[in-house]
Amino acid sequence: CVSAATPNRRIIRAPRGATLNARSWHTEGPLRMLMNNLDPEVAERPEDLVVYGGRGRAARNWECYDRIVSTLKAMDQDETLLVQSGKPVGVIRTHADAPRVLIANSNLVSRWATQEVFDELERKGLMMYGQMTAGSWTYIGSQGIIGGTFETFVEAGRQHYGGDLAGRWLLTAGLGGMGGAQPLAGVMAGCSVLAVEMRAERIERRIQGGYLDCKAETLDAALALLATARRTGEPVSIGLIGNAAEVYEQILARGTLPDLVTDQTAAHDPLFGYIPAGWSLDEWERRRESDAEGTIAAAKQTMARQVRAMLDFRARGIPVFDYGNNIRQMARDAGVEAAFDFPGFISAYVRPQFCRGRTQFRWIALSGEPNDILHSSARLKTIVQDPSFGRWIDMAEKRIQFQGLPSRSYWMGLQDRVAAGLALNDMVASGEVGAPIIVTRDHISSGSVASPNRESEGMLDGSDAVADWPMLNALTACASGATWVSLHNGGGVGIGYSQHAGFAVVADGTPDAARRLRRVLGNDSAVAVFRHADAGYEEALATVEREGLTMAARSS
Ligand code: NAD
Repeated sequence: CVSAATPNRRIIRAPRGATLNARSWHTEGPLRMLMNNLDPEVAERPEDLVVYGGRGRAARNWECYDRIVSTLKAMDQDETLLVQSGKPVGVIRTHADAPRVLIANSNLVSRWATQEVFDELERKGLMMYGQMTAGSWTYIGSQGIIGGTFETFVEAGRQHYGGDLAGRWLLTAGLGGMGGAQPLAGVMAGCSVLAVEMRAERIERRIQGGYLDCKAETLDAALALLATARRTGEPVSIGLIGNAAEVYEQILARGTLPDLVTDQTAAHDPLFGYIPAGWSLDEWERRRESDAEGTIAAAKQTMARQVRAMLDFRARGIPVFDYGNNIRQMARDAGVEAAFDFPGFISAYVRPQFCRGRTQFRWIALSGEPNDILHSSARLKTIVQDPSFGRWIDMAEKRIQFQGLPSRSYWMGLQDRVAAGLALNDMVASGEVGAPIIVTRDHISSGSVASPNRESEGMLDGSDAVADWPMLNALTACASGATWVSLHNGGGVGIGYSQHAGFAVVADGTPDAARRLRRVLGNDSAVAVFRHADAGYEEALATVEREGLTMAARSS
């Protein structure tokens, strides 16, 4: 494969319907999901193969993309494709229950695992940044993250405002693939949202997709809309064009203070993900090419300003949290010693869910039929025990538009996940849906990520940087018969800061698929619970008991 990803204006869209393009659904599934990742409704910059999260790509370049597609179409039921950082490298003979695709993205030997080394290797055409779900072909657009974002805001409201966010507003920045879920998640959780974004087209895209209510041309106009929302009790989400650091400082200076503060620019990538203050977009794109070092330094200086502003909000008593983009680390690199004084969203709001074994469950209709998701959601309402599931589905159906192949996601405990997977497989078997369904999850999960500034921040036993868990998670998915499995470095927070794994299973309605789903979903949740029980969390130990899981025997 050639080194650079040359822009390509082809429009990629996954095939729909029940006709195979590959030889079986086990290769058709990853094929359609790869294509769906690059659907213009789903990807942020499909012409560059960039799916989301700064430069998170689906394939290393267009030649690699074409070779992956033609290989998947030709593969047999006992073959497995190996993908190294977005490049197909070979097909090996395995067996029917083995994964059809194994993917490793952005992994570097620990001592070399820095952004600088990665950037050099990427320039030479040897690597690709896979983010989390981009390079593992399981991204479904902002609809994939909105459930988690909603749960985070609801928990923040519960902890700080007695569970009632009415009349309150959240200040954030970044309306990209992930960050774009924030405005709608905030409004669904009951608060208004002001999101600062440098790119006008991203604001338009979120308005068109139903994720953002409106845009404001000036901070004054935005604050006036927020004041109205506070008065009427009707939450609103507003996109404001500007640089986050500058706008955060201006809001502090005005003294019209928000009730929650965070940020979801792509700060993990100081070269491609965060625009320095005072720079236009054109200037940023030019200088990134001509002066990478200067661009990185300027981005980190601006992040330092933004984090100082966030610390000032905190000093005024406002809850502030890092939303998983490593902005605290970047600011500390630029001299803000106190950057980690505010917490990350996982340690502040999500960890208890992890201890209960709650992990994302994402399902995608390969038929392309919205009705398949509506009918399957209705079926899952009768199966999933979690009492909040039905409410979430009702809200999602009212507010969340499909992007690309129709899909939904929700965080579920072990038994709900297994039961849901089996129920979907039954629906495929009985022909109630038009084609097989993909069952997968985000890489953000309890047992599949080591990320000391995010998922594993502040672990009870100090095991934040232990990366064995995601490795075990990926190996578990392989041993359990997932259809494809991926192991990545650097997702969310940047190269060297995280290690994580993902999987997907094709539910094709067969008894074999049912066996795989039971093993893969149950074992994935089990690793999640073991990880937290092993770290000493009481709630995880209780989950081990409740779910009847087998921890290794303790020495007597
Ligand atoms: P993206 O690249 O699609 O979008 C980032 C957006 O930030 C862009 O629209 C960009 O214009 C804007 N931006 C950059 N600098 C700015 C500045 N100074 N002021 C205002 N706007 C600015 O990225 P994404 O997919 O939305 O992801 C955002 C971040 O969240 C990434 O760091 C990603 O790794 C991280 N992430 C979060 C989660 C989560 O659950 N919270 C999950 C995965 C990744």
